[in-house]
Amino acid sequence: MSASFERGYNVLKEMIDAPIASYLSSCVRCGMCASACLFFTETGNPKYTPIHKIEPLRKVWRREYTLIGKLASWLGLAKPLTNEDLANWQELLYDSCTLCGRCSMVCPVGNDIAYMVRKSREGMAISGHAPAGVVAATQRTIEIGSPMGVRLPAVKVQIKHLEQETGLEVPLDKEGAEYMVLLSSMEIINFPEYLSAIARIFHQAGKSWTICSEAFEATNSGIQIGVGDLAREILMRIVDGAEKLKVRTVISPECGHAFTALRWDGPNLIGRPYAFKVQHILEVLDELRIAGKLKTEGFEEARLTYHDPCQIARRGGVVEQPRNLLKMVAKDFVEMSDAGAMNWCCGGGGGVSANTDADEIRLKAFKRKKAQLDELGPVTLVTACANCRIVMEEGLEQYQMDVPVVGLTETIAAHLALSPQITPPLPNPLPLAGEGTIALSPSGRELAGEQPGEREKP
Ligand code: SF4
Ligand code: SF4
Repeated sequence: MSASFERGYNVLKEMIDAPIASYLSSCVRCGMCASACLFFTETGNPKYTPIHKIEPLRKVWRREYTLIGKLASWLGLAKPLTNEDLANWQELLYDSCTLCGRCSMVCPVGNDIAYMVRKSREGMAISGHAPAGVVAATQRTIEIGSPMGVRLPAVKVQIKHLEQETGLEVPLDKEGAEYMVLLSSMEIINFPEYLSAIARIFHQAGKSWTICSEAFEATNSGIQIGVGDLAREILMRIVDGAEKLKVRTVISPECGHAFTALRWDGPNLIGRPYAFKVQHILEVLDELRIAGKLKTEGFEEARLTYHDPCQIARRGGVVEQPRNLLKMVAKDFVEMSDAGAMNWCCGGGGGVSANTDADEIRLKAFKRKKAQLDELGPVTLVTACANCRIVMEEGLEQYQMDVPVVGLTETIAAHLALSPQITPPLPNPLPLAGEGTIALSPSGRELAGEQPGEREKP
């Protein structure tokens, strides 16, 4: 038994808490979770059945914590978990699970399979069975502060562009601001229109806000790779930054996993409540709308639909807010089938988009989103997660579908009722893939000649 396997085995054993023990003992093997998982539905391969993905964890539970398992192992009747098993399960626990939680919604006995996948990843990562792309993204986050290697100078370049474009100030390290805005590196590199939208919206609303130079990155690769200690270290940068600046609310950006990590996992990871509130940007915008501080004019000509990011809608409960906001600017809004809490994943969350081993299965899984869009006819796809946006752009390109994808915050900002001080929005309120972006390399240098479909990925 190798030392790394032994460590991984012991971590799996430690991860089995009371909820996991109850989930494993209550599974009735009905297979209903299979029909909820896009990796199963789009391949028909039973190995992608969600409960099968956590088989290593189940084996450890049975052997270590059940009388029958202990007896079977003592009599030599049960095969022990091996390092080879873990190597074989890497594909199932990382490449073909986005932690979307759809399977957990349909399980008749209430098993949270996504939670068990997340816990299984702890043992996988410690035993050396995490994909290279996810390991590299996590290392960059620890060493540089961002999974895509974005440093503060790159953010400052974007701020300079934005200030020139809008004539508005982007406050850096402003103590006592009401809001601290976080960004995902995906936004900094591929969608600078998000920050521009924030500056315009807060200017109109008359709200004070800031970016923290020591904690601007929202993405938590520690959650995606499945190592609690790293997740805590990454999270503490935000907590320290927000508490140092004494901000009232930290805003999670258009990124699904950042919201889960900060809003739901965070206080448990650090073992105490925050001294600030955490909201997703859509929650903040909807509050501004209710308070009459978000005023728009005009409507989108295009027919719009909305892709609910799993971590924001299903796992995060932010379902009504995007619809309230879309009503402000959409003349023709149409829902996809299964919209809302049961929406289908884009196929690239949970670290899947950072994992090149998963490219083939991810594009196969995208057939589910394709089917949802095909039902609607010509449409513009709005979403609120930069990772979903990149993944869907790639999927649409793969299947040669002409569907523009845009962020909700920038769509709202494109219709702000203008105050005289603000430079009008860019001429095309709904840029197509690759248009209207400052393309930055991970080192923050501008890239020349970026083409649609050549987005930077972690
Ligand atoms: S749906 Fe629930 S009970 Fe049925 S096989 Fe899956 S985990 Fe087990
Ligand atoms: S969390 Fe989502 S991707 Fe993972 S097994 Fe469940 S349904 Fe499939």
